[in-house]
Amino acid sequence: MISEKANRIGDSPTFKVAAKAKAMQAEGIDVVDLSLGEPDFPTPENVKAAGIKAIQQNFTKYTQNDGTPELKKAFIARLKEDSGLTYAPNEVIVSTGAKSSLFHAIQAVVGEGEEVIIPAPFWVTYPHLVTLAGGRSVFIPTKEENGFVLTPDELRAHITPATKALLLNSPSNPTGATYAKAQLEALAEVVRKEDILVISDEIYDKLIYDSFKTVSFASLGEDIKKKTILINGLSKAYAMTGWRIGFTAGPVEIIAAMGRIQGHTTSNPASISQKAGVEALAGPQFEISRMVAEFQRRRNYCHMKLSAVPRVSCFKSQGAFYLFPNVRAYYDMEFNGTPIRNSYGMAYYLLKEARVAIVPGDAFGADDHIRISYATSMEALEKGMGRIVEALARLKPAKKAKRVSFQNSVTRVKKAGPVEPAVSEAVRDGLVAEAREHLASGPFFEWNANVNGVVVQLRTNVSHLYDFWMENWFPAQLDSDLEPHGIIYAVDGLAGREPRAFYNTETKTGVLVNTDLYGPLRGLALGLVSDVSERLFGIHALRGMSLDRAGQGLSLVGPRGTKKTSLFFGLLRDPAFRFHANDVAFVRSSGKAALADAVERKAYLPSDSVELFQRLAHLFDSGKGENVVTRKEDCQDAECLRQEDCRLDRGAPFCYKASPHGRVLIDPNWIAGPGSAPKRTTLRWIFLLRNDPVSPAVAELAPEEAVRIFESGEVPGHQTGAAAGPAAPFFNPHLLVATEERLALLRTFFLRLAGSARVFLFNSGTAGPEKIKEIIEA
Ligand code: PMP
Repeated sequence: MISEKANRIGDSPTFKVAAKAKAMQAEGIDVVDLSLGEPDFPTPENVKAAGIKAIQQNFTKYTQNDGTPELKKAFIARLKEDSGLTYAPNEVIVSTGAKSSLFHAIQAVVGEGEEVIIPAPFWVTYPHLVTLAGGRSVFIPTKEENGFVLTPDELRAHITPATKALLLNSPSNPTGATYAKAQLEALAEVVRKEDILVISDEIYDKLIYDSFKTVSFASLGEDIKKKTILINGLSKAYAMTGWRIGFTAGPVEIIAAMGRIQGHTTSNPASISQKAGVEALAGPQFEISRMVAEFQRRRNYCHMKLSAVPRVSCFKSQGAFYLFPNVRAYYDMEFNGTPIRNSYGMAYYLLKEARVAIVPGDAFGADDHIRISYATSMEALEKGMGRIVEALARLKPAKKAKRVSFQNSVTRVKKAGPVEPAVSEAVRDGLVAEAREHLASGPFFEWNANVNGVVVQLRTNVSHLYDFWMENWFPAQLDSDLEPHGIIYAVDGLAGREPRAFYNTETKTGVLVNTDLYGPLRGLALGLVSDVSERLFGIHALRGMSLDRAGQGLSLVGPRGTKKTSLFFGLLRDPAFRFHANDVAFVRSSGKAALADAVERKAYLPSDSVELFQRLAHLFDSGKGENVVTRKEDCQDAECLRQEDCRLDRGAPFCYKASPHGRVLIDPNWIAGPGSAPKRTTLRWIFLLRNDPVSPAVAELAPEEAVRIFESGEVPGHQTGAAAGPAAPFFNPHLLVATEERLALLRTFFLRLAGSARVFLFNSGTAGPEKIKEIIEA
């Protein structure tokens, strides 16, 4: 739905941090906001009065598209007075804030595929403006030891035939670095010899400290002026961020092009703001020096505080109202066991643990840094800086071997392939011979699982499958004299074969070919185990999600789309319910009771279950994941990446939501503590789920009726969508062999089960967990 271009545009991180801080404040949390990008001073009284007067005089209509002549004149006069520059009215345009000036300027000069050189750290908006024009940003990292100033050599080295412009920002947001005249002249020398433009964003030019002098790039010579697009505005120096007035001065044809673009985007900036703008530029200027004096005092204070923090370096800014300390030395340290990996992790830590909002340096192209704004009261700064200093001191070196011992993996095969459930002995022998031969050609793993008394041996050359297998099941002895009930070969790397699974019931042999995904292996194992245990022990697999409540169990059974998982976690939120099994239980009859056993040590959960049960996020971090994204570079979720609140940045070993095929293996006992997930429960209630808007919420079923539904695998009334797949008898896709003899066994078993437990048709379209509780508590 969204264009490629728009998808690449990130949110403004400053707005986002501010929103988070505000949300926390609304919850009553005392957050100090050091993320602000605007002066905390009021707009000067005389300027406000001019705005009010404009309204009173009905100066409330469209003005000239490129700004009122009066305001252009005032801007031209200011440029003359401050920088000795001479511009004609047709070389100047007024826009809706400097952001808009920059947008129109870049749209006017940058063509598809053309390059704009941006020294980093840079103001977050620049690359997005270049993207929107179809251009390409070329970043040049500047060095802290050079005062974050671009050198002529660095500039020269990055100019190519595609270079259209250099985007300069002095004083800089976020570093506060300000170019001295000689430094600008050195750059001008390079610009003179090349066919490039300079877009010079001078919006902070009045906010400079220690009697530093700013120089407008255009003032470096008539030839340079012809190549310069000068940007300025009222937001910063006149504390007029909300009024939205920006200026551009530059060559006539560029200004004309911007005028055409502006004529179809914003038209003139607000008439009232323009009137106020005249007063700001032409009226008394003393408020600026008051503001500058105060900013300088605050900068000195914050810089002094930061300089005293061990291993933090902080460039002493000459302008703007930001400090940009390097906090790299604190990355890879941890709090409460969570390591800080980068500037987002640091921002998160400072917000949550120190209650200070700052902006992560990565947003400005410098991940080793954070941006601290001192555009807030001295009182807030004292509190905020104190908290930062203290929070940094609290960080501990990360323990080295903290990670779970196994690797999280991204499997090559993402989805389960088809199973051929009844291959003949001849085919089986051929497959097994092929698998054995292949396994013999390299290292392979072997492990016996004990699945409810049935021993299944896995032989595989995929270490990931081996890891999952060992984690998932209880162990059986691996003695040479113990004959497994069945064997599964999971062989990857067989040339010329599609990923698939085969099963032969006579010899209880499974072969899994060319898949490194655990799901099919687990399914094959469960199928093999039921095939054995039904005949040998009269124990049957019941596919469903089961919970225990004081020794009595309930099972949720149904096709896809019946909100099984959400009901399951909904019930689990009530501490009276305990996790029993999230996919399958093995059930035996004991007298009149049906005893259900959980046979897996671990729960194999879709990683997006987190959306239903937030507590899992924390547990997943200690589990083993499959098809999860472990490196931010591999994430394809543009939508999420734009949120810039990435779990990987905050030290999580993987992201659970980046892949729709993600699975995680966790110990169900982690959910509510040791012993909280019983292995056995006595099944008392079975809820056959359907999801439609009209059926009654609950209807109890007679055993025969229940068995008919179990056998068909279809619940009456439930609208099965295409995603649900074909109905599986007894809701069990792992049956593998559905011979008449076997179906008869199952029928008998389910009839007994429906006699031991009450079976309900439950409509999840109209009722939720509360209704289930009501029934079982009745
Ligand atoms: N340039 C820089 C470097 C800035 O920091 C800002 C505001 N954060 C702007 C331009 C835009 O200012 P405005 O649109 O409010 O005039």
